[in-house]
Formats: sequence, structure tokens, C-alpha cells
Amino acid sequence: MSAEQADHYLIEEIRGGSEAGWRQLIDRYQGRLQAFAKSRIASIADAEDVVQDTFIGFLQSLSRYDAARSLETYLFTILRYKITDYLRASGSGFRKLETQADDWWEEATPSLAESPSMAAVKAESAEAQQALLATVLRQLIQDLRDRGAFEDLQIIELLFYACRRNNRVAELLDVDEKHVAGVKYRAIQKIQKYLSEMEAATVGAMTEVQADANVSSVWLQQRVTCLKRSTLGQYLLGILEEPWLSYTQFHLDVVGCPLCVANLEDLEMEDEGDDLSASSGQIFASSVGFLSRVSSPDSESSP
Ligand SMILES: [Zn+2]
Repeated sequence: MSAEQADHYLIEEIRGGSEAGWRQLIDRYQGRLQAFAKSRIASIADAEDVVQDTFIGFLQSLSRYDAARSLETYLFTILRYKITDYLRASGSGFRKLETQADDWWEEATPSLAESPSMAAVKAESAEAQQALLATVLRQLIQDLRDRGAFEDLQIIELLFYACRRNNRVAELLDVDEKHVAGVKYRAIQKIQKYLSEMEAATVGAMTEVQADANVSSVWLQQRVTCLKRSTLGQYLLGILEEPWLSYTQFHLDVVGCPLCVANLEDLEMEDEGDDLSASSGQIFASSVGFLSRVSSPDSESSP
């Protein structure tokens, strides 16, 4: 079962009111969320409380969660809001503990957590367009990987996922700015070509890429170039081979993907035998009461 399939299965269980499913979801995501929170909040106890609030917030918003979205991204987005609230309330403002330049993700993601009203008015056609664009992006990335065009891939990942400007991308990769613009132009052309090819087969397909923002928002949402936990595990063990080794280092260090960095830290803690069971039990105890309120009345497993 893939990670996404496992997530879907868990969500179904939880919607049916399954406590075992809820405990499993906590166990699966707690470590990486805590790694993220602890890199931003000085007090370990407070960071753990914020993660606990995140799980409760997830259950409270479960009826609005669209299973087509990445569960991990969704949880991290809730966490980001909880951390902002915490920093505001504790008077520490937006002070960053990390020196790492990863605030691009926090600035780029406000659209990921929609307010209930936004989710309600969101047209189905927009969802279909996003799904189509995600498919096209995956195809583009696969093409670049198959051709071994990793530099082009790095350029468009920095442009669309990390939302960097052309001149900054040129600087980070030590290439000419005109070259960056050319790669970007060709990528957009390719995306449009794929879209028009798929259009015939898809109801309500989009006719053109309206703006870079569209590509960016899908890339941020679907995290099409993020690293699998198994890849990060191989990286930690030092058994990852080229070109994936360089690409992994690029995604972690140059892109500075805060979600993959949190996953890596979580895996490192696991290796060090960090035991999360005490706080996991506490998170479960504090949140399980919300579970009965989410289970839908027509679900098979509810009484
Ligand atoms: Zn990532």
C-alpha cells in the first residue's frame, strides 16, 4: 500500500469514528510535525502542545478536508497556523529560531488552508483543473528525470515550488539569468502542450495555463518533487546513489523544503531511539473526544 493509499484508508476509518485509526494517524505524523514545531518554538513543551492542538484542529476541520489533497501537506499547513497563533499570543512575534531561509514556504502557502466559506464556493471545475495540472506537472518532471535534465528540473523547482525569482535562481545555481528564463519558457510551453493533448479526454479541462501562480499553487499543494520517506531513509544511511543523492541534497539544502527537512529530522530522532509514545498517548487522550463528533451518521461503522 502506498503512503497515499494508507492515508485514504485511515481517513475513512477516522470518519467512521475508529479510535484505532485515529491513534495510527497520530503515530504516523506526530514525529515530523514535532520536528517542524521544535525548530520554530523554543520551549519543547509548548511545541508539543502546538502539535496536540494541530491534531485537534484536524479533527475539527475533517468534514472540510478533501481527500484528493495531500494529508501531510494539510497537517503541516494547520501546524503552521497554530505556530503563528502561538508566537503571536506568547509575544515572541514572528521571530525565527531557524537561520535557514525556509520562510518562502510559509509565505507561499496561505492559500492551502482554505476558510470554510472558500472551500464551499470552490467550483468543481477548478478542482478538476488542478488535478489535471498536477498530472501534467508529474509528466513534465518525469520527462526531465528520464532525460537526466536535472539542472532544468532544479531551475523549475526553485521557480515554482520555492517561488524564487529568476535572478535568485540564477544566483543559487550559478547559471545565467537568461538561461533560467529560457528553461522557464520551455517548461510553460511543455505544460501547455500536455494540457492541450489531454484536453480532449477530460471534461472541463483548462485551455491554457493562466499564470505561473497556477503552476506554483499546484506544486505547493501536491509537492510533486518532495522526497519519499524511504528516499530520506536511504539518504540517512548513506546508501542513496547519484543522481538522487545530489537531487536530495538540493531539495533539502538549496530549496530548503521545510516539510522534507522535518521528515529527515524525525527519521534521525527515530534512529536515535527517541520514544514518542508518552506524548502520543497524551495527544490521543486529549483529542479522542472530538472523534465522536466527526463520524458521519451514514457511515457503516458508526452505531
Ligand atoms: Zn519537500
